[in-house]
Amino acid sequence: MGRAFVYVILGGGVAAGYAALEFSRRGIAPGELCIISEEATAPYERPALSKGFLLPEAPARLPAFHTCVGSNDQRLTPKWYTEQGIELILGTQVKSADVNRKTLTTATGETISYKTLIIATGARALKLEEFGVRGSDAENVCYLRNLADATRLVNTMQTCNEENAVVIGGGYIGMECAAALVTNRIKVTMVFPEAHCMARLFTPKIADFYEAYYESKGVNFIKGTVLSSFENYSDGKVTAVVLRDGTRVPTNMVVVGIGIRPNTGLFEGQLVIEKGGIKVNGRMQSSNSSVYAVGDVATFPVKLFGNECRRLEHVDSARKSARHAVSAILSPDKTSDFDYLPFFYSRVFTLSWQFYGDNTGEVIHYGDFLAGRFGAYWVNKGRIVGAFLEGGNREEYEAIANAVKLKMVAQDKGEVEKLGVEFVSNVGRHQERNNGLVLHKPLYEWQATAGVAVALSVAAFAYWYGRRRQRW
Ligand SMILES: Cc1cc2nc3c(=O)[nH]c(=O)nc-3n(C[C@H](O)[C@H](O)[C@H](O)COP(=O)(O)OP(=O)(O)OC[C@H]3O[C@@H](n4cnc5c(N)ncnc54)[C@H](O)[C@@H]3O)c2cc1C
Repeated sequence: MGRAFVYVILGGGVAAGYAALEFSRRGIAPGELCIISEEATAPYERPALSKGFLLPEAPARLPAFHTCVGSNDQRLTPKWYTEQGIELILGTQVKSADVNRKTLTTATGETISYKTLIIATGARALKLEEFGVRGSDAENVCYLRNLADATRLVNTMQTCNEENAVVIGGGYIGMECAAALVTNRIKVTMVFPEAHCMARLFTPKIADFYEAYYESKGVNFIKGTVLSSFENYSDGKVTAVVLRDGTRVPTNMVVVGIGIRPNTGLFEGQLVIEKGGIKVNGRMQSSNSSVYAVGDVATFPVKLFGNECRRLEHVDSARKSARHAVSAILSPDKTSDFDYLPFFYSRVFTLSWQFYGDNTGEVIHYGDFLAGRFGAYWVNKGRIVGAFLEGGNREEYEAIANAVKLKMVAQDKGEVEKLGVEFVSNVGRHQERNNGLVLHKPLYEWQATAGVAVALSVAAFAYWYGRRRQRW
């Protein structure tokens, strides 16, 4: 028994939804495309799960956040897929893949064949057991990767009003969940091994600001140690966490956000894997020319970083890489290599930040940390390669994105520190002032114009998307 499709998207998350819309816009015949997903719902905007979905009042619920509303585009309900003749094979796990035969086999034993496959399997949440701690199956221990997890988290929060929660992990899932728990009137202790929160991105100075803000909301931080075991786990409900340094923290619930692992398992030994993801070229094409990979599971060359391969775990990258793969499949002659400006953001409480580029090199902080209006540039070999801004407006976010895209030269650290966003906000003005701030001037006028236009449109999209995200 089996079915055959021209195009198969394996995975039904963010990237799948954006790829489906791109297929439909570029034109495919009914019955040519199917999406196979382990989840029982049509693709949705996953970031909503740690934001609007967890609100105590007027929480976001499906169908409100099906893709592609996160980029202010069409909302693709199950009806839309039916109307387009796109088959949604939901609640179906693919158990094996054979890229030579071009087949996938599902848990029910069905064989689905394709001419072109897009792998969009994303990632899964790392479990405590992978670090030698038992207890993930306790009633009040929650993870957050999919809708089922989020529903469980909401139900658990509802039984813990005015009680205590421990959040294990200081990354963005930990930070966003801690904020949501506080908003739901739950007292939070965060535990993580690093010296400060968001250690992969934040500098100690940036982290200090957010930690102080969280503390002002009642969050307690225990840093530099890890979970060792749970108390009373065997009774079904954890009543306390025990840390490696011996500290015991009584709790009514636990949220675990200790990282993710890309879902590459089906393709290991069949496709080239690099940096934990499926290695693709600038067309998102893997080492097998009929197989593409997009989103969290793909490791792709980032032009901006000299084509260094990166695997990114952010929604903007999932959306754009998915669209790019479809363009490369349906319009190969008109599609050049993916040119992506890494971008991510977060919104917690009334705070919001955006980051563009790469956090390597020397850091220059600027702004007023006490007032919550600050940022940082990462400068490598005299050029801005990364930019962070808390509490910016549209023009400011555009400006920092632009600076990274153009790799603006930043030679005078004192001036950069003093001017902050202003340093990058007006290339022309800085050039006119000729005050010792050397800006990156492309060799030809047209390159400059095109570069600015591309950067502005990327930044405008990013900001627009960021604003949309406030709801989710
Ligand atoms: C709670 C949460 C909040 C987030 N917030 C932000 C944010 O604020 N900003 C940001 O930039 N990013 C955020 N992200 C990250 C962002 O959501 C991901 O980068 C994005 O979802 C990746 O899209 P994807 O399509 O590659 O993978 P996913 O959206 O994870 O989709 C993968 C899909 O594949 C399915 N699948 C996997 N294996 C199989 C199989 N064998 N058979 C069938 N189906 C399979 C999965 O069930 C899933 O449906 C957040 C992530 C989470 C979990």
